[in-house]
This record gives sequence, C-alpha cells and structure tokens, in this order.
Amino acid sequence: MSTAIGRFAPSPSGRMHLGNAFSCLLAWLSVRSVGGRMLLRIEDLDPERCRPDYARQVEDDLRWLGLDWDEGGVDGSTVCCQSRRRAIYARYLDILADRGLLYPCFCTRGELHAASAPHASDGTPLYPGTCRNLSPAERARRAALRRPALRVCVPDREISFTDRLQGPCRENLARDCGDFILCRSDGVHAYQLAVVVDDGLMGVTQVVRGRDLLSSTPRQLWLQEVLGFSHPTYAHVPLLLSADGRRLSKRDRDLDLGSVRAAGQTPEAVVGRLAFWAGLIDRPESVSARELVDLFDWDRVRREDVRLGQNPALFEAP
Ligand code: GLU
Repeated sequence: MSTAIGRFAPSPSGRMHLGNAFSCLLAWLSVRSVGGRMLLRIEDLDPERCRPDYARQVEDDLRWLGLDWDEGGVDGSTVCCQSRRRAIYARYLDILADRGLLYPCFCTRGELHAASAPHASDGTPLYPGTCRNLSPAERARRAALRRPALRVCVPDREISFTDRLQGPCRENLARDCGDFILCRSDGVHAYQLAVVVDDGLMGVTQVVRGRDLLSSTPRQLWLQEVLGFSHPTYAHVPLLLSADGRRLSKRDRDLDLGSVRAAGQTPEAVVGRLAFWAGLIDRPESVSARELVDLFDWDRVRREDVRLGQNPALFEAP
C-alpha cells in the first residue's frame, strides 16, 4: 500500500486558537496512526491577512503540542509557503485558460452583494454569471477601467463524495455554488486553486480539516478532476464553539495558544483536553500526542461541534 500523506495547512493570519489545534491534532493522528507522512504548508497567499511572524508562531505552537511534520512538500524545504509558489499557480491558471474555462469578471464586491442572488452554502453570494458572456469588445472596454478577477465556469453537474465524519455529501456546482474566483482582481491566487494544485502536486492522500471547509470540497474535487489530480479522502472535523455558540476565530484572543501557554498549561494538558473533546479519551487527563497514536480510531471521533464552557482557557468541561 502506498504511504498516506496528510498535511497541516494553516493560514498565518493570527495566533492558532484551540479550534485550529483540535483540527491539527486529528489530522496528525490520522496520518501517524497509519505510519504516514505529514506535511506543513503555510497558506500565506493573502498579503493583507498573513504575516511571517504568525507563521513562525504556528510552527512553534505545533512543536510545543508535539505535532511534528516531515517536510513541507515538493520543493524539499521543511516548510512550504504558498507565497513562494505563485509561478506554479499561474501555470495551472494558464492550463484552465487554454481550455476556455476562465473568464474575466469585473463585478465589484458591492455589485455582487447587491444582486439578490441566492447564497452559496459558505455564505458567498451565488454568482449570477454577469460577466460570463461579455463580448470581446466589452471585455476590452472594461479591462481598460478595472483589473478583473478570474472566474472558472462550473458545469451543471452534481459532485458527490463521502466524508469520513460527515457522511455522504452532494452539491450541484452550477446551482449551489456558481462560477467561482480563482484569481482575485489584485492578482492574488484564490485558496481554491492553490489548495488543489498543492494537494495534487504534493501527493496528499488525506485531508483532515475543520467542518467550515466542507462546502469547499465539491469545488476542489471538480478542479482536481479537471487538472488531472487524484482525489484525497476527506474528514471534516467538528468546530469548537464559544460559550455563546460562535465558532472560534482568531479574534478570540483568550482562546489562542499564546494565552493558553502563558496561563501555564502544559502541552499534555492541552492535548488531553482536545482528545477528550474529540471523543478519543473518556476523561480530560494529561496525555502526549504520541501516546494517542495507538488508540486513534476515526470511529471514536465525535461528529458534532463542541461548545466550550464559559472559561475554556481554564479548561472547564464543555
Ligand atoms: N488554510 C486553511 C485554513 O487555515 C485550511 C485549508 C485546508 O485545510 O484546506 O483555514
């Protein structure tokens, strides 16, 4: 059997929070429990949101938690940064353009939100196709005024797959998602493109990530097919929710690894708590990530989101 390859793919847009650590632990256990290789890929394409010091902190927090990785992917460096791979994404955009699958989109964010289109499952407005059939002359006229984003034409086709935790999922790309952006008007390659190219080129066989990305999966499966990459398996893990039911975000400073570490928690206490929330152990006792490898089993992992207590930095039971 070929080696399993998993990945951590954090965006360095803030300090890791407990929810990120929860996904990373499950991704790591999933791959280590079958003797596979783990990659670290820093998803830092958006210069407005990402900072190199956050990337260094992610690495430091992962090491502190005992979640190691083998390498950063195809270029041989220990950590792969997407910001150094722009030429590769540009090449794949050209492939899609040559097949007639891309078109320039001149719509502004305001116009998109103003259109009373139904909303795709991840909350972005479903693109009504405004720029899909512009004439060459109209495209040239608009291009002189505004740099366009690039959208990919999706087929009217149902994509179905079985998620390891969430079960059978399906989506009609045209109806439920619409043509989506692969390159923003400021030239930044979109997550959907970069993740497919990287997972494909790096030979990733299993994707384990937060449930908030479930709705991206049909788009990624379809792009993998178009670009000739094989499909990894998917497991979308529960989210950690704050006491008032919001999903943790990097703005929730009191739940980030910085404050958890500053409060004197040990890595084993944190890993034990995460493993307890995941359903892997029955009590929130201290345990190292390494000690969990042998008892890891996807069938034990809970499917529902985890609502934290009022003071989760002090690790109250949820
Ligand atoms: N970079 C994404 C994030 O931090 C994760 C991407 C993925 O796992 O596919 O939310």
